[in-house]
Amino acid sequence: MKNIFDVYEKYKDSGIRTDFISHQQITKTINKLDKNFFEISLIGNSIKGKDIYSIKFGKGKTKILAWSQMHGDEPTATSALFDLFNFFSTDDEFNEIKKEILEELEIHIIPMLNPDGAEVYKRENSFNIDLNRDAVLLQSDESNILWKYSQKLKPDFAFNLHDQNSYYAVGRSNKTAAVSFLAPPLDYSKSINYTREKSMQVIALLNDFLSQFVNGHIARYKDDFEPRAFGDNLMKSGISTILIESGYFPKDENKDFIRKLNFISILYSLQIISRREYQNIFYGKYFDIPENNELFFDLVLRNLTLNFNYRKFIIDIGIKRSKKFNVTSKTFYYESKISAIGDLSIYYGLEEFDLTNHEILFEENFAVDSDANFIIYKNELPIIEIKNGFLIKKE
Ligand SMILES: [Zn+2]
Repeated sequence: MKNIFDVYEKYKDSGIRTDFISHQQITKTINKLDKNFFEISLIGNSIKGKDIYSIKFGKGKTKILAWSQMHGDEPTATSALFDLFNFFSTDDEFNEIKKEILEELEIHIIPMLNPDGAEVYKRENSFNIDLNRDAVLLQSDESNILWKYSQKLKPDFAFNLHDQNSYYAVGRSNKTAAVSFLAPPLDYSKSINYTREKSMQVIALLNDFLSQFVNGHIARYKDDFEPRAFGDNLMKSGISTILIESGYFPKDENKDFIRKLNFISILYSLQIISRREYQNIFYGKYFDIPENNELFFDLVLRNLTLNFNYRKFIIDIGIKRSKKFNVTSKTFYYESKISAIGDLSIYYGLEEFDLTNHEILFEENFAVDSDANFIIYKNELPIIEIKNGFLIKKE
C-alpha cells in the first residue's frame, strides 16, 4: 500500500479539480470510463434535473457502497474517487492487489450526490435542504436516491465521504485534523452493536495505517447521535457505515495532499475488508483516536495592546477567513471576520504572530463579527495592516 501511495500521481485524474468540480466535468469523465470494467447506471436526477450515477465494479460477495459530496461544497472525496477509478483500470505492477480486492468485493460508488449544490459550491441542495438532515423525511430527490439505493443493495460497508473545515484540532493539540473518522451512533446513548463495531474496527486499522503519513493529524469525529443523518440511519438499518471527513493539513490550501490521503484511505479500507483483516482488531481501539475540537483560527494575533478610554488591555485577536465561490469565474475569494477578541490562549492559529508592544486603537468598527480590516501601530507608527484577514507589513 505504501508503494501505491508513493506513485499516486500517476492515478491522479488531471481533468478533475480538487477544490471545485462541476457536474459537466464528472459526466465527461464517467462517459470515458471503460464499460467492460465499470458498470455505469443512471440512478436518478437531482431536483434541477442533473444525472446522478452509480459506478459498479468488482465481482465479490461483499458489497461496498461509497458516495461523495452530499454537501455540494465538499468536493475532495469526489476527486479521490476518480483517482481510484484510474487505479483500478490501469494495468500495472499492482494488478495482484486489485485482483484480490475485486474478487472479494462488489463496489458501488455514487460520486457527487448533490450536483445542484456542487454547481454553486454550497452545502445544501437547490431547495436549500441539507441532505444529511433529510434521511428520515427523504423529501429531497437526492436523499431519496441514496436511501433507496442503500436499502436495495444492503451493503456490508458504506462510506459516507465529506469535507470538514480547517479549524479542527486533534484532541487539544495544535495539530490540525487532516482526516476525521466516525462510526456513527445508532441512538442517543451511543450504544455499540455488531454493525457499529465493524465500522470501528475498520477505522482503528485505518488510523494505524495512516499514521505513517500524517502522524498526529488523525481525529475521531464527535459521536453525538443525529437522528436525521444518513450515517446514523444506515447504521440503524444494519449497514456498517464509516464517515470520512477530509480536513486540513498545513500548507495544503488546495487540498491535493488530502485528496491523496483520501484515495489511499479508501483503497486501504477496501483491502482490509476484502481480507477481513478488520476482524482481528479490538473495536475499542477506535476510542484511542483523539476526538476533534474546533480550536483553530486562520490567523491569531497575540498580546496586542488595545488603548481605550485611558485604559490598556492586552488582547489576542482570532480571525477566520471564509471561503466564497464566484460562480461566474469559478474561482475562490475570502471574506474575513474578526471572530474572537480577548484571551485566546486555549486556541491556535493556522498562522500566528506575537505582537507584544504593538497596539491598536479602539474604533467603532473593531468588534467581534466585524470585517477583519484594521491597522496595528508600533511607537505610534502604523506598521502592519490587517486587510481582509491577511497580515500585510507596511514597510
Ligand atoms: Zn459534509
